[in-house]
Amino acid sequence: MSKPETWISRQDLTELESTNNADQTRTPVSPQSESQLPLSSRPAPSRLWIKNPLAVFTANGLDARGGIVISGTTISELVPAGEQPSTPCDETFDAGRHVLLPGLINTHHHFYQTLTRAWGPVANAPLFPWLQNLYPVWARLTPDSLELAVKVALAELLLSGCTTAADHHYLFPAGLEDAIDLEVGVVRELGMRATLTRGSMCLGEDDGGLPPRSTVQRPEVILADSERLIGKYHEAGDGAVIQIALAPCSPFSVTKEVMAESAAMAERLDVRLHTHLAETIDEENFCLEKFGLRTVDYLDSVGWLGNRTWLGHGIHFDDDEIARLGAAGTAVAHCPTSNMRLASGTARVVELEAAGVPVGLGVDGSASNDASNMILEARQALYLQRLRYGADLPVERALGWATRGSAAALGRTDIGQLAPGMQADLAMFTLDELRFSGSHDPVAALLLCAADRADRVMVGGQWRVVDGQIPGLDVRKLVAEHSAAAQKIVRGTE
Ligand SMILES: [Zn+2]
Repeated sequence: MSKPETWISRQDLTELESTNNADQTRTPVSPQSESQLPLSSRPAPSRLWIKNPLAVFTANGLDARGGIVISGTTISELVPAGEQPSTPCDETFDAGRHVLLPGLINTHHHFYQTLTRAWGPVANAPLFPWLQNLYPVWARLTPDSLELAVKVALAELLLSGCTTAADHHYLFPAGLEDAIDLEVGVVRELGMRATLTRGSMCLGEDDGGLPPRSTVQRPEVILADSERLIGKYHEAGDGAVIQIALAPCSPFSVTKEVMAESAAMAERLDVRLHTHLAETIDEENFCLEKFGLRTVDYLDSVGWLGNRTWLGHGIHFDDDEIARLGAAGTAVAHCPTSNMRLASGTARVVELEAAGVPVGLGVDGSASNDASNMILEARQALYLQRLRYGADLPVERALGWATRGSAAALGRTDIGQLAPGMQADLAMFTLDELRFSGSHDPVAALLLCAADRADRVMVGGQWRVVDGQIPGLDVRKLVAEHSAAAQKIVRGTE
């Protein structure tokens, strides 16, 4: 595909960033690439002190009220209240107006669905009819429309303070075989991190599944492409930008064989597993009728009940199932807005965590949310879970799901909290809009006053949002192109 005009080059972006950093003093950078120097003569990475934030949430109880020090791509030091960094810094960013958080992490999404937001025919429908109406529309997805959809979803997430996003892409109609490759390109252009899951559907209507024939693939095609993508893109270890996971869509759209073979491949290649599970009672009934099993028994029967797996939604579990999930270390992506919109139910998040289940947050696909806003999703999670557990559920607990919990759900130990050695992924919010006026506790104000946009976002030591904007992204042009693609896919004229 040709490079879209919406984007400028990474070099231009870097120049733009430096011109945007008027309040940050910088030292000159050597023209010689550091990677060309022998290790012994490489300069130490420059140290940036993000100084004295208005407030800070570290997600681990550590004191960083004096700020944090970034060295290169990672956090090297937390500065306690009233103290200075242990050694001098090259640059300082005065964060006196900012509430500082670890970068938010989204654990469940379907980026392509930004093309079918607030679509009238499914605006008021529960999951199964919602899906059956949307499948034929989604079957018209093209590389161009997908690329626009991914850019919109990621840009929206980034502006809401999200630095790492998982996407569950399971649609590969003819011509869109390279959907995940295309997503990789957009993630890299925006400078975020992503866990891109190679989704799949192989159980079409004529085989007793839910999706139409045109949207499903043969098992051997799914498995071969999964292995190709892992080999080509998956990065293991700290600082990974792209990770690939395997994600058969749901019990009602894949066969048990593909589930089992995906689990075996994940074990062999050391990647994670993701699927939708226990989202609705309709799904539970489907599993009972088709497999003679409840959802967790089904999961167990295909080799997925383990700590390699994170589940989208995870709502309809009984006490025994929660205990089994906890013992196995299987994680859950809680998607409160989607669950409310489709009236799917309320996940038992506090009980899941008490049992040992890592819980993260997901905005879910944009046809069931329909916003890709992580800080607002944390607010929704707080309020939905307070309805179940009471008003003493702390604000910080919801922020913990959006950061440390989400990192655990994605199997990552290098992001999701502010601590020495963690990646320098940050979300910083100001409280100078009308909605915050009169607020007292700055961290609580983020959720209680409905913060919806970060002022600054850093990923791996690089500013990706500056003054509430993504440097180099022509949002107006992107919206115009994406809106046109959304009209086309619904009309069926592509
Ligand atoms: Zn989903």
